[in-house]
Amino acid sequence: MSENENREWLGELDHPEYKLALAQFERAAARLNLDPNLCERFKSPQRTLTVSIPIRRDDGHVEVFRGYRVQHDSALGPFKGGIRYHPSVTLGETAALAMRMTWKCALAGLPYGGAKGGVRCDPKILSRNELQRLTRRYTAEIFPIIGPDQDIPAPDVGTNEQVMAWIMDTYSQFKGYSVAEVVTGKPISIGGSLGREEATGRGLFVTILEAMRHLNLPVTSSTAIIQGFGNVGRHTARMLSAHGVQVIGVSDSKGAIYDPRGLDLARLLPYKEQTESVVGFPGADPISPEDLLEQPCTVLIPAALAGAIHIKNAGRLRCRILAEGANGPTNLDADVLLNDRGIFILPDILANAGGVIVSYFEWVQDLQNYFWNEKEIQNRLAEIITEAFQRVLARSLSEKVDMRLAAMMTGIEKIASAHLLRGLYP
Ligand code: NAD
Repeated sequence: MSENENREWLGELDHPEYKLALAQFERAAARLNLDPNLCERFKSPQRTLTVSIPIRRDDGHVEVFRGYRVQHDSALGPFKGGIRYHPSVTLGETAALAMRMTWKCALAGLPYGGAKGGVRCDPKILSRNELQRLTRRYTAEIFPIIGPDQDIPAPDVGTNEQVMAWIMDTYSQFKGYSVAEVVTGKPISIGGSLGREEATGRGLFVTILEAMRHLNLPVTSSTAIIQGFGNVGRHTARMLSAHGVQVIGVSDSKGAIYDPRGLDLARLLPYKEQTESVVGFPGADPISPEDLLEQPCTVLIPAALAGAIHIKNAGRLRCRILAEGANGPTNLDADVLLNDRGIFILPDILANAGGVIVSYFEWVQDLQNYFWNEKEIQNRLAEIITEAFQRVLARSLSEKVDMRLAAMMTGIEKIASAHLLRGLYP
């Protein structure tokens, strides 16, 4: 690519999240002394698809939405990555998330490459029928590039098992037979896996306990604060609380609550379900979502969107562990500051890998038409993610690099080796 073409291409991807993903990659690539040709290749996705999605709204008028599917790298196997429905979805954000998926799958030892998809929409204001029409048309538009051997979507922010069921059904209608293995995160009755819904939270929980063990922090006198009380945040909170960690503060898009004596999760979970927010939970104090992040706690868990930890609040965080449930929650300059301050960071590509690990289990079960029990799934997830944590920790200690760099280097190295062995086509 010429300088100009390169600039034009990067212009389309121009987005703070893409810049962050790129900067994190470049830091690891420099440390690895990565082949410059591979470096160039990894900086942009293998394939991007932008689609227009016209749907009929319930009042009869037609509205056109913009959707994407970005495939970053397939050296290790089919592409894998979630689908996000959110008003801020762009090509750059989707490409950043796809790149992260490549390193995440490689780090966990999964036979996948990274991808991500999304539709720029607000799913909260769409009716169920509108959401179904949007999902079916989006699936039809990306149909040529997805498939069980090609690219296997999954849920992300704003999508859920019902959306996955519609994707599976639309794909199956096109093929003329049921293809459960085209998507993961489906309902159990149509080929979903036990333990998938809670998988990201469980992986996060397991890595937090490993980090506490490493740092000699007693679990039962520890506290946690969680930003985002959706799929990832809720399950992590539930598991930490069941193991004696006091969850002292949580937030969602509507606000935040705080109780230094510990929130009663058994009451908070149904309260959130009924009222669709944590705000107003009886007995807890309201607090601004920004202030919540700065309260003292053992572990702070950003589990909402990217960019939550930035240079303005990084100096004021009072946690011992920062466990990244969300993708890309920590900006680059904040990352440096937190490492200098001795805060132990569980980087996103390690900490939130539980979701894609159990998605992998779901795909394997669907391909074999043989399903595992919940205990088997929990044990295999814990085994894979603990092993990944130990590998990253060992590298971080032996090479004197922070946990993010160690994780990135491990993932990138694996993909680079696959590229070099496979060679260049043609
Ligand atoms: P979700 O839509 O279920 O939940 C997101 C939560 O964040 C909601 O409670 C929402 O109210 C809250 N939120 C939004 N803006 C906020 C703000 N400004 N302050 C506080 N809370 C806010 O999404 P999810 O599936 O739980 O995903 C959360 C994050 O985890 C995303 O970054 C996603 O990419 C990442 N992730 C999810 C999975 C998965 O399996 N679901 C896997 C890996 C990574």
